[in-house]
Amino acid sequence: MSHPSAPDPGTAADAPSLDGLEDAGSREEFTARVRAWFESTAPRKGSPEDFSAVHAVTATTLADYHAHERHALAVTRAWQRRLYDAGLAGRSWPADCGGLGAPAWQDEVVTEEQARFGVSTKMFAVALEMVPAVLFAHGTHEQRVAYLPPILRGEHGWCQLLSEPGAGSDLASASTRATPVDGGWSVTGQKVWTSNATSARYALLVARTGTKEEGRAGLSCFALDMEQPGVDVRPLRQMNGAYHFNEVFLDDVLVPAGGLIGRLGDGWAVLRTMLASERAAIGGGTSGRSATRLVALARRLGRADDPAARDLVARAVIRERTLDLLRARMAAGHEIAAAGPATKLLYSEHARHSADAAMTLLGMAGTVVDDPLAQEWIERLLFAPGLRLGGGTDEIQRNVIAERGLGLPR
Ligand SMILES: Cc1cc2nc3c(=O)[nH]c(=O)nc-3n(C[C@H](O)[C@H](O)[C@H](O)COP(=O)(O)OP(=O)(O)OC[C@H]3O[C@@H](n4cnc5c(N)ncnc54)[C@H](O)[C@@H]3O)c2cc1C
Repeated sequence: MSHPSAPDPGTAADAPSLDGLEDAGSREEFTARVRAWFESTAPRKGSPEDFSAVHAVTATTLADYHAHERHALAVTRAWQRRLYDAGLAGRSWPADCGGLGAPAWQDEVVTEEQARFGVSTKMFAVALEMVPAVLFAHGTHEQRVAYLPPILRGEHGWCQLLSEPGAGSDLASASTRATPVDGGWSVTGQKVWTSNATSARYALLVARTGTKEEGRAGLSCFALDMEQPGVDVRPLRQMNGAYHFNEVFLDDVLVPAGGLIGRLGDGWAVLRTMLASERAAIGGGTSGRSATRLVALARRLGRADDPAARDLVARAVIRERTLDLLRARMAAGHEIAAAGPATKLLYSEHARHSADAAMTLLGMAGTVVDDPLAQEWIERLLFAPGLRLGGGTDEIQRNVIAERGLGLPR
């Protein structure tokens, strides 16, 4: 079973056929066939063709940033298309949404196997992980069949237009306004910290359709076309000199009537679905997985038998294992209250502690940016604070775990 194919630059003739994959009798058999496909198709981690970190933009000039984004988008698109043609993209999605109607565990296997190789679809993280959750829960059939298949084919990336200068954790005070006009909505306002805004074709937008006093009840969610007049994307420079985020100014931008997701004034419910899937996706991410790399670092430094080094590494292995077990319980369908916030919190703490541990192991070498052993960890160290914020801060995750997970008062 594979998707109907179309001409595509990313498809190689030498990839092994996955015909009959739906007949793989067990998870083990399915995994073995998918792994064999990746082994003959995907570059190895660390090889010259490895593009698994290509989405983590470290360009230090604006021109470099735009060139990097173009390159990152091209390789990500080609790879996503290749997965699609092999029948490995969105296998569990319904056929009219571009999927194959297969069991959900098969998508998990593909994600797990893919993480072993030097490839990535992270530039499409919003499109692949948040948009489907939102549209399956709140979208119309027309929206699903219009927006989802181009995502699976690697044609359309998405971004999230949520945070504003005056509304981060407290998104209920968002003030970007959507006003009814002939044929839809006119949107005006400012968003900030938008990842991937320069490459996204569409955005999930939260905007005010009611009064400020209504708070969350005055918000609605929309699909906004990023390639139209009135959308002004301005990249922001970070403390490490690199670019990742953008400010997005919206000036009388049109969203057609069919772009309203969920009911008018129901934006908060849509937002909750979006944030829950984002937190689970961040918590299930692979880029911050660091235990294996820490073990390798301790060995390279000749510290594998040093009790102090072993203690640091063992703590990282235990944290990562705890995260894996929590994710496995979620995947097996166990009801775990506040599971998304819990995995996101564990993940961000793991990233931070592991980067700190690596710096302890490296000692003074950790201050030398072009030291080959230190480079990776310096990047991880500088990225770790961002993981505490994106998708909702650690404090907000703790609030949600306390209230929804433990039943404590607000
Ligand atoms: C890597 C990364 C990617 C991001 N990508 C996007 C994106 O694509 N789209 C987008 O819209 N946004 C994005 N963001 C923005 C992110 O969602 C916000 O930074 C985050 O929600 C926090 O908002 P804020 O920065 O305004 O901080 P604030 O909300 O002002 O918080 C400041 C501090 O106060 C604490 N605080 C606030 N409220 C409470 C409370 N009720 N209880 C306890 N403590 C509290 C916070 O934890 C924090 O420490 C991204 C951020 C990062 C770092």
